[in-house]
Amino acid sequence: MTAIKIEDLSFTYPSGTRALCAISLEVEEHSTLALLGSNGAGKSTLMDLLFGWKSSPTITLFGKPLKEYGRKELGRNIALVPQSEHYNFSFTLLDYTLFGRAPYLAEMASPTDKDVHIAYEALDMVGLSLFAQRSVTSLSGGEGQLLLIARAIAQESKVLLLDEPTSALDPANRRKVLDILASLHEQGKTIIFTTHDAQFAYELATHVAMLKGGKLIAFGEKEKVVTSEVLTTLYDTEMTVCTIGEKTIIY
Ligand code: ADP
Repeated sequence: MTAIKIEDLSFTYPSGTRALCAISLEVEEHSTLALLGSNGAGKSTLMDLLFGWKSSPTITLFGKPLKEYGRKELGRNIALVPQSEHYNFSFTLLDYTLFGRAPYLAEMASPTDKDVHIAYEALDMVGLSLFAQRSVTSLSGGEGQLLLIARAIAQESKVLLLDEPTSALDPANRRKVLDILASLHEQGKTIIFTTHDAQFAYELATHVAMLKGGKLIAFGEKEKVVTSEVLTTLYDTEMTVCTIGEKTIIY
């Protein structure tokens, strides 16, 4: 089944900047799509549109126009992991992760024991369960990024959107996030992520979409579209895709 369908999507900011131009693509359920492009290519704008933060009549989620989803219904279907978030209050990590359960709770209702269990498991998955009672304000940038991933895992949505999920992470945590996302993919989630790390994209994704100047210049299965030529065009700098045995290295 098609999870997300984008048809002839263009977006212009009120300032007049055309951020996206005639984008059409389909993301199959259970696939993992990497969105690649230089700074200003339109990746964040597309993520915002997919999350419903900007209205678009040309995006459908599981066959239904995105704009017809209520907020809670949307939250059960799609979760967003931003690069970082500003903490206005010193919530504990557990409370912050429990925000992911909001789409399942009635207005003003408290989380149940099941919700708390799910939140603990999500914190455990990213290696933060020992810090569950610590304040979010005490976290490093990398730990904050892991917490946002935990909240999205607790949300148990069918689709996961991640905006540069490894931008603040050291190599060990980058590997951890790669393993977590690979395991969520195995569990059947549909994953869309942006990254500047072409190697990370190749290791994790089943499909790749490349944006340049708001236009889609390549889209398809990674083995078919990720080549030295197209990456060099995408980034305006020499890139090489090299296959050694079973391993593909991009540098
Ligand atoms: P990326 O995420 O690939 O770096 P963006 O989606 O943030 O790209 O930006 C795409 C284009 O839209 C850029 O030219 C950027 O300057 C412009 N843009 C982004 N946000 C805004 C905004 N709030 N108002 C006006 N222009 C914007």
